[in-house]
Amino acid sequence: MANPTIAIVGRPNVGKSTIFNRIAGERISIVEDTPGVTRDRLYATGEWLGREFSIIDTGGIDLTDEPFMDQIKYQAEIAIAEADVIILLSSAREGVTDADEMVARMLYKSGKPVILAVNKVDNPEMRNDVFEFYSLGLGDPYPVSGSHGIGLGDVLDEAVKHFTTEVEEEDDGIIRFSLIGRPNVGKSSLINAMLGEERVIVSDVAGTTRDAIDTEFTSASGQPFIMIDTAGMRKRGKVYETTEKYSVMRAMRAIDRSDVVLMVINAEEGIREYDKRIAGFAHEAGKGMVIVVNKWDTLEKETNTMKEFEDEIRKEFKYLDYAPIVYVSAKTKQRLHQLPDMIEKVSMNQNLRIPSSLLNDVIMDAVAINPTPTDKGRRLKIFYATQVAVKPPTFVVFVNEEELMHFSYARFLENQIRKAFTFEGTPIHIIARRRK
Ligand code: GDP
Ligand code: GDP
Repeated sequence: MANPTIAIVGRPNVGKSTIFNRIAGERISIVEDTPGVTRDRLYATGEWLGREFSIIDTGGIDLTDEPFMDQIKYQAEIAIAEADVIILLSSAREGVTDADEMVARMLYKSGKPVILAVNKVDNPEMRNDVFEFYSLGLGDPYPVSGSHGIGLGDVLDEAVKHFTTEVEEEDDGIIRFSLIGRPNVGKSSLINAMLGEERVIVSDVAGTTRDAIDTEFTSASGQPFIMIDTAGMRKRGKVYETTEKYSVMRAMRAIDRSDVVLMVINAEEGIREYDKRIAGFAHEAGKGMVIVVNKWDTLEKETNTMKEFEDEIRKEFKYLDYAPIVYVSAKTKQRLHQLPDMIEKVSMNQNLRIPSSLLNDVIMDAVAINPTPTDKGRRLKIFYATQVAVKPPTFVVFVNEEELMHFSYARFLENQIRKAFTFEGTPIHIIARRRK
């Protein structure tokens, strides 16, 4: 279910972000019209030997107001709390430092698998410089060079060995969802209110290996759900837990594990930058989405209040035009009972499969309304379309030349597909492929 997680720790300037970008690099996607969340060095997904994993750069969690040694200590704590495998990165240029020794001791005590990598070994002559790192007591140091891309394969080979071979439980019929949003938007209140609904049966509280707590419950309609723990829900009082970057990282992890994300916005405050980052990440990850406007009780309502709020949301989240919006109050419980059914519906839409014959009828009608574009005298020809995946629904359109499928025409096809079928709440992907 959840990807195994690798965290990179180490002093500033040893090359953490360089290595992070190398490992995550190929997967970093840039989608037009979305905030570039995946370009952030904080959190990304990667793949090695066919295994997908998540990777965190703890250096991306900005703690610059803290004293130097504390910063490094907190980053190591985060790695210990969040990761299955930790890469301790040091640098051959500076050799072993006090900070390296402190972090090495913390990581050793944690009992987590640790891989010691020594960066900036840019040429073979420098390989001897890594021997002094045996003194850290973490086993063989791996020489790497982030800027030349050397040695990372060996580090990842070692990391993958520590991944548990957990079987994916994709089709257990349970819908996993999380509530994402800035502190104080009312996530905990919503959770308590949802779980407190008399017709909801909370079966148990399943603790996982980390200190995340997921809650399993069954809705009135009999659908089982798992609510995934998110930052801000269970505060434990560590300095870094109140930082925005940490909360973004926790939110990203929760999104990765979810089928459907409830993006919670505070009606009193409207949409903020944080909301856009997180929503962009969920969109790019292909997750289902419901926009939940909480604290609806606090607004003085006039005839157009809801319409104006919706316009604002649609303007700020242009790429999320498929996400349903629901206006609720955790306080008065207004419309809360709608949430489980909405999540269930979005999840069904994410898993929808369209027969090729129906799909091709829609595409042919679309081409009839709006002829395919031309470029330098060549016209895009569409031969055939087929759905190749669910979660999110993904369509391959076979064409004469991929480059002729402009963004705007793909967007038009997407809209036609959405008009014909019920894809509310889920992103859909359209891929143009040249017919062989
Ligand atoms: P971070 O603070 O640990 O994230 O470190 P950065 O990734 O920002 O790198 C710090 C500096 O080290 C930058 O100037 C990088 O270009 C440089 N650097 C990173 N990897 C290497 C390497 O393998 N060899 C050399 N010579 N420099 C590197
Ligand atoms: P979290 O940090 O997102 O988990 O937010 P909390 O659930 O802790 O809520 C933050 C504050 O907002 C608390 O004082 C709640 O009582 C209040 N609050 C939450 N939901 C509502 C609501 O629907 N209406 C009003 N008026 N207050 C709310």
